[in-house]
Amino acid sequence: MTYNFGAGPCILPQEVFKQASQAVLEFNPTGLSILEISHRTPEFEAVVDETVRLVKELLDVPAGYSVLLLQGGASLQFCMVPMNLLADGHKAAYLDTGVWANKAIKEAKIIGNVEVVASSKDKNYTFIPKDYTIPQDAAYFHCTSNNTIYGTEMHHFPKSPVPVVCDMSSDIFSRKINVADFDLIYAGAQKNMGPAGVTLVIVKDELLGKIDRKIPSMLDYKIHIDGGSMYNTPPVFSIYVSMLNLRWLKSKGGVEQIEIENIDKSEYLYREIDRNPFFKGTCAVEDRSRMNVCFVMENPELEKEFLKLTEDRGIIGLKGHRSVGGFRASLYNALPSTSVHVLVDAMQDFAEKRR
Ligand SMILES: *Cc1c(COP(=O)(O)O)cnc(C)c1O
Repeated sequence: MTYNFGAGPCILPQEVFKQASQAVLEFNPTGLSILEISHRTPEFEAVVDETVRLVKELLDVPAGYSVLLLQGGASLQFCMVPMNLLADGHKAAYLDTGVWANKAIKEAKIIGNVEVVASSKDKNYTFIPKDYTIPQDAAYFHCTSNNTIYGTEMHHFPKSPVPVVCDMSSDIFSRKINVADFDLIYAGAQKNMGPAGVTLVIVKDELLGKIDRKIPSMLDYKIHIDGGSMYNTPPVFSIYVSMLNLRWLKSKGGVEQIEIENIDKSEYLYREIDRNPFFKGTCAVEDRSRMNVCFVMENPELEKEFLKLTEDRGIIGLKGHRSVGGFRASLYNALPSTSVHVLVDAMQDFAEKRR
């Protein structure tokens, strides 16, 4: 048995892996593989339609928003967002909550001006800044809902006088959100939606077309909306597997049900981190992420030994990001609660042995 706590690309349900492998061998009635069919066939158009429908249904996307399935990862959105929304000479407001937020800021600065409204950098991003003002004259406010590397998550979003753009790469579909509170949401698929290779964008239609910059076609949201996410060859297999995964999520009771499980899984692990004298959490308690649980050892010299113990038990992907150290257990939707139990057992056995 292996227990994959990797931060991304991450675990998907076993049944999704099985269905995906089947479709590689035979997808449509003529016996073609999903890897060789034309994206212009009615069979594949049905896949795109169902994926978009599932996104809308699972997140309760209101009318007036378009759902796009693009490429280039969340990282391409770092530049596509300002290119489409930030006019020359104008500024955008950004919340600095870590590495990904910084990469978004860096790209936006190429296109226009950036005002960083708040940052938790001086505490190595171990909390989410709360008291800040979003300027009225900003083109938009950009935030990162879950900070995959540091294990912080925004459990509340600020009231904003300007459109809100959010990078939800690592917690989309893990909890209920009110899409109407956001004007543009984007997410690389590989943390909760599907395999790497497809990027989800949910954009309010009225947000677009307001600036007159010339935008290269592949970077223009409007072109992709008009093309139904088929302006060019879409990532056929990644979209197909995402559809399977979203079907799985729907069959489990949707986002509402998975949120309950995600709360249970993360609380079970945080309780052990707080109880076990060998371990401690790295983040402000009220900002702790349910997706990426970061923790270290009271005595860092023991970390190698604990990691060895977990590896012997089939636990994979537990090593923390190099900028935080220690451990990071990523508890995405498809991670069964039994995996969390195996990890907590290992922590308890370690403490018992070392006492
Ligand atoms: C993983 C991640 C990214 C980068 O996604 P890519 O699809 O690799 O570009 C961006 N933002 C967040 C919050 C992430 O977790």
